Amino acid sequence: DDLWTCDTLDKATAFIKSHNGQISLRNFVGGQYRSPRNSSAESSQCINSFEPKTGRLICTLPCTQPDAVEDAIRSARSAFPTWSKTTRAERSAILRRVSELLQEHRELFAIWESIDQGKTLERARIEVDRAISNFSYFSTFILHEQTAARMVDGVALTYEHRSPAGVFALISPWNMPLYLLTWKIAPCLAFGCTAVAKPSEVTSMTAFLLGEIFQKAGVPPGVINIILGDGVTTGAALVASTLINGVSFTGGTQTGIAIRRLTAHQIGKHLSLELGGKNPTLVFADSMESSVRERTIRVAAMAAFENQGEICLCGSRVYVEKSVYQDFVREFTSYVKAKYIMGQTVGAVASLQHYDKIRRYLELAVEQKATFHLGSAPPALAQKEAQGYWVEPTILTDVAKDSAVQIDEIFGPVVTITPFETEEEAVQLANDSEYGLAAILLTTNGARMRRVGEQLEAGLVWINCWLVRELGTPFGGMKNSGTGREGGEHSRDVFTVVRTLHLPAF
Ligand code: NAD
Repeated sequence: DDLWTCDTLDKATAFIKSHNGQISLRNFVGGQYRSPRNSSAESSQCINSFEPKTGRLICTLPCTQPDAVEDAIRSARSAFPTWSKTTRAERSAILRRVSELLQEHRELFAIWESIDQGKTLERARIEVDRAISNFSYFSTFILHEQTAARMVDGVALTYEHRSPAGVFALISPWNMPLYLLTWKIAPCLAFGCTAVAKPSEVTSMTAFLLGEIFQKAGVPPGVINIILGDGVTTGAALVASTLINGVSFTGGTQTGIAIRRLTAHQIGKHLSLELGGKNPTLVFADSMESSVRERTIRVAAMAAFENQGEICLCGSRVYVEKSVYQDFVREFTSYVKAKYIMGQTVGAVASLQHYDKIRRYLELAVEQKATFHLGSAPPALAQKEAQGYWVEPTILTDVAKDSAVQIDEIFGPVVTITPFETEEEAVQLANDSEYGLAAILLTTNGARMRRVGEQLEAGLVWINCWLVRELGTPFGGMKNSGTGREGGEHSRDVFTVVRTLHLPAF
């Protein structure tokens, strides 16, 4: 209850200090908060969660074991027959209420998200706003969806009948915890499914708080269950269960592959996989003309460093046309130096484990003699002495094409800049990746916008902008960045089953 009194950053910080790590998060199952059976008794099954900005222990959470995962799935299954038969208007009203309650507690959610994830408070507020929109958007969407009937060759009248696909596992990563989990929960409930949701073990705080919002909004017990725990124990048991009809997953590509394996024999299970990216930003010389130069630098910098580069859509491979390459590197570096300041506009990275991952890539860059225009390899830290997981925005050039720094998703505030000579080469470099999530194209040439934009192997292409989204448009990646699309009617495809009915045309 006390977490709900922390409506300012100072109160939340004092609360954490006074509790000295003694905050225990619990599962939300069957409409109630409860400790999963077995786990509270055995400390080895508890997970510690630290505050990225200070390295301080915030709370512990259970690592829900397979038997307790099954309890949660059974709770969702027992709620399904009634929930799936509610009217669209009933579900819409409940989702609307969830969005209103989130709005009422906007600042509190933003504060806990910022503390738990390391992001700036300003960024956290943007993400809470998006979580609110996730519920309000699908609350409206379901009221207006329609299916058309068709006459086939004058022989049969056909129509699509959709029904809720069943019970879903909803699994999210640590980079935008509330935003991404609600992007799954809102459509899942809207289309009449029930769910067991599992946030990342690195950032479970706002998912924990959400349970109370669902209680207050009148979501019937069991419709949404939130369980805490790690991937290999809790997540794997959840996705593999034959009692689960579908999985909506956002996270890393390797985990996506593991989920495909775990569910390979369950052909009919719906799988939506939103995975990693190593997204290109293409800067053409025309975008460095004086009238648009400021925008080009600003968009490229935002795409690289927003949320410390911990957004799957970040543009971390920048390619610049040779004639403006030197100018771009110089101006981009001085812009980032002035605008992206640790502790102000740049937060801490999410965990010590992630800090270590980024550090190893930057050490490799040092070894391989890349040029650091900004940033450096940060020092190794031990959890005990860590005063926070801070990585400076880092700008690299002279990185070899086959270096892991250039190929792998680092998922931190690290960007590489490489020159190109022709449009063909730019497209080839951009597409030279196992990933295909997003791409950013900076040019003023209208013909090129379409010509290049339509050749890029990316599910999302932003031209002279970044992260602009309308929630009905298809969201998802190509190649190893995922399968399936979410958003508007695409989310409907994930959460419903369709049967085509044929009536004879008399
Ligand atoms: P992750 O794959 O390690 O974990 C994501 C979630 O999956 C966590 O909740 C984790 O506990 C769970 N998990 C791990 N192993 C599992 C298993 N075997 N079975 C079931 N669940 C399991 O990813 P992360 O490190 O939390 O997040 C970073 C990754 O997420 C990056 O690759 C990033 O690009 C990606 N991401 C993608 C999108 C997108 O929309 N495409 C959005 C945000 C983040």
